[in-house]
Amino acid sequence: MAKDKYIYFFGEGKAEGNGTMKSLLGGKGAGLAEMTAIRLPVPAGFTITTEVCDLYYKNGRKYPAGLKEELAKNLARLERAVGKKLGDPKDPLLVSVRSGAPISMPGMMETILNLGLTDASVEGLAKKTGNRRFALDAYRRFIMMYGSTAMGIERSEFDAAFDRIKDSRTRRRLGISVGQKVNDTDVNEEELDALIKDFKAIYKAHIKRDFPQDPIEQLWGAVGAVFGSWMADKAVTYRRVEKITGIVGTAVSVVQMVFGNMGDESGTGVCFTRDPNSGVDIFYGDYLVNAQGEDVVAGIRTPIKLSEFEKADPKAYKQLVQVRSTLEKHYRDMQDLEFTVEEGKLYMLQCRAGKRSPVAAFKIAVDMVKERLITKEDAVLRIKDTDIEGIFYPVIDPSQKDELRRNYLVTGIDAVPGAAAGKVVFDAKTAEEWAAAGKTVILVRRETSPEDVGGMHAAKGILTATGGKTSHAAVVARGWGKCCIVGCEKMDIDYSRRLFKVGDKIVKEGDEITLNGSTGDVYQTSLKLVKPELPEAYKTILQWADELRRLRVRTNADTPYDAEHARTLGAEGIGLCRTEHMFFDTPERREAIQEMIVAEDVESRKRALAKLLPIQTEDFRGIFKAMNGLPVTIRLIDPPLHEFVPHDEDKQRELASKIGVPFEKVKHRVDQLHEANPMLGHRGCRLSITYPEILDMQVTAIISAACDCAKLGIKVEPEIMHPLVIDKKELKILEVRTRSIADAVIKKSGQKVKYLVGTMIEVPRAALLADEVAEVAEFFSFGTNDLTQMTLGMSRDDAGRFLPDYVDEKKAGVFKYDPFQSLDQAGVGLLVKMGIEKGRSTRRNLKVGICGEHGGEINSVKFCHRVGMNYVSCSPFRVPIARLAAAQAVIEDKRAAAKAPAARSAAKAKASPRAAKKAVPAKPAAGKAAAKAPAARANAAKRPKTAAARVAAVRGARAKPKAGARAETPARKSVARSGRR
Ligand code: PEP
Ligand code: MG
Repeated sequence: MAKDKYIYFFGEGKAEGNGTMKSLLGGKGAGLAEMTAIRLPVPAGFTITTEVCDLYYKNGRKYPAGLKEELAKNLARLERAVGKKLGDPKDPLLVSVRSGAPISMPGMMETILNLGLTDASVEGLAKKTGNRRFALDAYRRFIMMYGSTAMGIERSEFDAAFDRIKDSRTRRRLGISVGQKVNDTDVNEEELDALIKDFKAIYKAHIKRDFPQDPIEQLWGAVGAVFGSWMADKAVTYRRVEKITGIVGTAVSVVQMVFGNMGDESGTGVCFTRDPNSGVDIFYGDYLVNAQGEDVVAGIRTPIKLSEFEKADPKAYKQLVQVRSTLEKHYRDMQDLEFTVEEGKLYMLQCRAGKRSPVAAFKIAVDMVKERLITKEDAVLRIKDTDIEGIFYPVIDPSQKDELRRNYLVTGIDAVPGAAAGKVVFDAKTAEEWAAAGKTVILVRRETSPEDVGGMHAAKGILTATGGKTSHAAVVARGWGKCCIVGCEKMDIDYSRRLFKVGDKIVKEGDEITLNGSTGDVYQTSLKLVKPELPEAYKTILQWADELRRLRVRTNADTPYDAEHARTLGAEGIGLCRTEHMFFDTPERREAIQEMIVAEDVESRKRALAKLLPIQTEDFRGIFKAMNGLPVTIRLIDPPLHEFVPHDEDKQRELASKIGVPFEKVKHRVDQLHEANPMLGHRGCRLSITYPEILDMQVTAIISAACDCAKLGIKVEPEIMHPLVIDKKELKILEVRTRSIADAVIKKSGQKVKYLVGTMIEVPRAALLADEVAEVAEFFSFGTNDLTQMTLGMSRDDAGRFLPDYVDEKKAGVFKYDPFQSLDQAGVGLLVKMGIEKGRSTRRNLKVGICGEHGGEINSVKFCHRVGMNYVSCSPFRVPIARLAAAQAVIEDKRAAAKAPAARSAAKAKASPRAAKKAVPAKPAAGKAAAKAPAARANAAKRPKTAAARVAAVRGARAKPKAGARAETPARKSVARSGRR
């Protein structure tokens, strides 16, 4: 059998890999190969595959056999291509060693530049280039990067040594005053000589050996560092936060160095082929003169704009503009480019699909369809669920003119649009802690680094004193659509005193500020935020999605407001109206339901129910009117009754006196209702079995409201749903009673109203016996919150305590995603599939939907499409995500089907793994395409402990269209509601 191929070479206009091989070569390796093949100016090199990283971890951090020899061969080939040898004391080849995962993880993993420099070769480089300062600058960078990245020495030690030299020597030599910054480029040759000595001493003090003078040892050290960084905490955190799964590791690209630090005709830059914030078709980026790669993203100096670069070096700029147009046409997408200019000549070091703000994602997709670069289907596929969430992020309410004027503080660079208001914190840890305690925070840093990623995610907005639009802070925040202002240089941050100053104004930790990421303005107060206007491109994409999808999208709503709001977001009906929510709105309602629960006999229970009847009828009328002819599924009461009654003595006494019952009786009844395992107890349809008068009241209310609406000419077809059913006989009892009540009301009203009677499938037994259940049920709605709980045997209220470990790839890693967020397709999904098949084997046209939280999660929705559901139902804010996902499922299936014959012939040709690996990676099979989904959010499984608190939480989130906190974005809303109700 042919040996596995671990390394892919590129150079001299040819490449062994290509742009489609991201999963094997990483984004960077694939981009370098592709750019080489289309003859762009790319330095030569080779890429060690992600498979090696995977094997490295699988084999206890050991490389696979044969890798060493393969690397030696590729290095020799690189040396031949370049005409220089690694470590040559006269004219050394230098290389960069760069990480590159299949999905971009900006700044999370390591890169080492200038590898191959030693005490001897640095002098060779100095002679050859005639620029000793440049050679020394490259060497000091290399020692620092190698020492910190490969050998784990704190980078701050090197930084401190550099600052000492700058302060003690450079500052004095140049007469730079104390308040003014000494730039790296100010440091001269002698000072760099001294710095290198200091750096080597730091290295020796930590590693107990001299800095390695053998370039091959350096190379393996660097390769090991890149693979090691795959599992570094910051990278694992980033993957968790970004919900990146299903990729096996990072690739390592070893590339001939070109130098942006050779003087003023050299430099390095990062750019986007379109504006990544607005999506407008303009060339956008940063350039740093006389600098090396990492300087731009690290935000060490604030770079110049591309327009200034054009003035400074029109020749190099022209080359870059040409590359921009070639690459956009080639990839048919906005690209993020890294380049270096070495003494006037342009080299491309990276190209990949650029991260963009949600607004830009929509605009670029729609514009590219207009430009005939992509199809409508491509455009729909390019939008992510997070793009939709981001579109709803708030902006500052412009009506607060006086406040805006009075509280203006400073302006930085508008890196990511939107607005955020919150309390200032100065470090990532505090940001995480305060956010966990429920505070909204703004993370303020001089610059951010990958270590800050957890705090950046926890913060509502990010403000930095340095860096440009492509700095680490900007790139990471943009990926999340999080408001961010960078390069706010007037801000003087004092970490030790936990404050920053702008002139004579002081902002302390905990003080409120507001960021306007669209203008770069910062305000010294918490301003009111409002919902933004939805951009046209968003509407266009969703319209295209609607034209493509088969699956209908309904909403979970139990008030007329929610129903109306969901319709504006595209809901095509209500899939779940949780009737118990209606009992909590006012003290009268609460009192009436409590009176019903503590009632001692049927008669007094009926009296209490009679008080609830007009209230529920009125609510249903409102909902039917709001939905105006669209289907509405109403679920009868579901939670255990003890959740409705007061548990402390004072409240019990209050209730007793209000309803005229002795306190002891109330207390006794509450004690009686106590259950050891309420989620498996007296709840769901079991309540209607034991207290049928509750069913009577609810059905009367539903059907009377429907008849009233029918009288007004509003078409209504209610779907009455029984929860937690486990057996056909149980449902039959309920169905018979439902119909007798409903038919009587209809008859009495003289109206023609049709209705359906169906069930939720929430208990595994119901799914297993779905063929029998469907003999009675006219529709099924999968309640996957409970179905997940009962299939996994994991309490949805308590799983948050241990579930994080189950989804943490560094811990147990049993699940890829939190099964309460993204449907466990392998387990629960199997029951769903079986339930549908069995149900339809009895009732061919059985209407099937889902109303668990999964109904608004992108991958679960795709699953629902694939198992043939009729609709999904989700929180109003997630309706647009479900519409998009349903369309994407159609396109993905179509494309998978088109690719299937090719995949089959590829399977036949699989005799040679070498050939197979070279083949374009086939699209995952239809079922598997749904595998990518959000990772765990353990808290999401939690719900407030009492029914009232839960309802309060839900009501709080939905009461009115709240502007302001970003917590009100669709995903977060749904997270807040992902508890039982
Ligand atoms: C479910 O269990 O999925 C469901 C929708 O019902 P609830 O969340 O109200 O228990
Ligand atoms: Mg349920």
